[in-house]
Amino acid sequence: MKKAHWEKNLVELIRRTSTDLPADVENVIRRALGREKKDSTAHNFLSMMLKNAAMARRESVPLCQDTGTLSFRFTVPTGFDTNGLASLTRSAVAKATRLGYLRQNTVDSVSGELYVTNVAPAAPLMTFLQGARKTVDARLIMKGGGCENVGQQYSLPDVTLGASRDLEGVRRCVLDAVWKAQGRGCAPGVLGVCIGGDRATGYAHAKEQFLRKLGDRSEVKVLARLEDRLTRDIRKMEIGPMGLGGKTSSLGVKVGTLSRLPASFFVSVSYMCWAFRRRGVLLGPEGGVHRWVY
Ligand code: SF4
Repeated sequence: MKKAHWEKNLVELIRRTSTDLPADVENVIRRALGREKKDSTAHNFLSMMLKNAAMARRESVPLCQDTGTLSFRFTVPTGFDTNGLASLTRSAVAKATRLGYLRQNTVDSVSGELYVTNVAPAAPLMTFLQGARKTVDARLIMKGGGCENVGQQYSLPDVTLGASRDLEGVRRCVLDAVWKAQGRGCAPGVLGVCIGGDRATGYAHAKEQFLRKLGDRSEVKVLARLEDRLTRDIRKMEIGPMGLGGKTSSLGVKVGTLSRLPASFFVSVSYMCWAFRRRGVLLGPEGGVHRWVY
């Protein structure tokens, strides 16, 4: 493992994620802009988001002041040194913070004291999976606190929503989560949904949906139909960018499932704001870049 290559390219992964909005997200915002009335509040906000994104990219500055929680997901070949990779990732986060790609944004939960390098217990978050490829697939998502705060979890049946343990019940939960998020979480956002699992795995799987490209559809037909229906329903809510009205209340809905116990039926909804920071890279055994992802 060539430490210098690994650290350099992990810092570059962080820089791209923090400062360069992925093309699929930018395209969806651009299409939404075309649907809004010129000079409306919605049009102005979407246009400002695109200008912000262009400036962040041009000047290599964070897209949002809240650099968010950094979640890395590594898929590594058999026998790969994951402890070494974890340690290099922590140094890369500290370096990216020193270089200004990440704002100092991590505090002790009790004392409120700042971790100046953004390296702390469970920060950054790292997940390691084993894959069949010889390269390391490194993905990074940065998720801000404002949108994290509006995530919701439901245990069905829910009498207040009239939500039973079926897909119609799931639909009601997602619409409720969007309704409750209005005015917070920096809309238009993307909804990551998990049907099933337990309380912890449900939220984790809901967030996994953010690794999917915005233009894709679920390979499971019934879920693809649910995603389409939710997209249409949310549009009709006219919550609009920043909750100030308009046709664009969401940039997409992604639904996944996990198995569950007969006694539980959780629906977990994670909300990702318009500043949807997600990037990836395939790295060779010496840390060289094979290909950037997204
Ligand atoms: S919710 Fe997103 S856009 Fe809003 S402040 Fe947080 S990271 Fe920034």
